[in-house]
Amino acid sequence: MRCPGCGHEDTRVLESRLSHEGRAVRRRRTCPDCNYRFTTYEQEEAFVFQIKKRDGRIEAYQRDKALRSIQVACQKRPVTIDQIEGLLARIERETQDNAERVVTSEKLGGMILSALTLMDKVAYVRFASVYKDFRDTEQFMQELSAIQTPPTT
Ligand SMILES: [Zn+2]
Repeated sequence: MRCPGCGHEDTRVLESRLSHEGRAVRRRRTCPDCNYRFTTYEQEEAFVFQIKKRDGRIEAYQRDKALRSIQVACQKRPVTIDQIEGLLARIERETQDNAERVVTSEKLGGMILSALTLMDKVAYVRFASVYKDFRDTEQFMQELSAIQTPPTT
């Protein structure tokens, strides 16, 4: 696995243990080049949670599918695959921490959107245009102006 600190190709595993009731492997890693230390959560391919689609159908959450949809939105943007995987890992962790077994596709999309808005505005708009299924240009423009002038906190 590539070092997120310096991009070195190879990192060393310091510690490895099961988490999330055995559904993921938590690994502490270190980079031999810059000594950067980080943690990864590597999901088992097996069932993690389920997605309830807009039409009511329920299907197993597929990380690959979610990853691809984000990758499409991030095309030619300065977002790395590590960042996208990190984003998904956080969403998966949050879902598991909340002990949610079924998540609606709207909710999953919303979580991805709120993570993307912090990461890359262009990717955010692209993902939103698919996820929110904008019916007309006006709606799309409203969304655009909303992210360009974020509400003051
Ligand atoms: Zn490094």
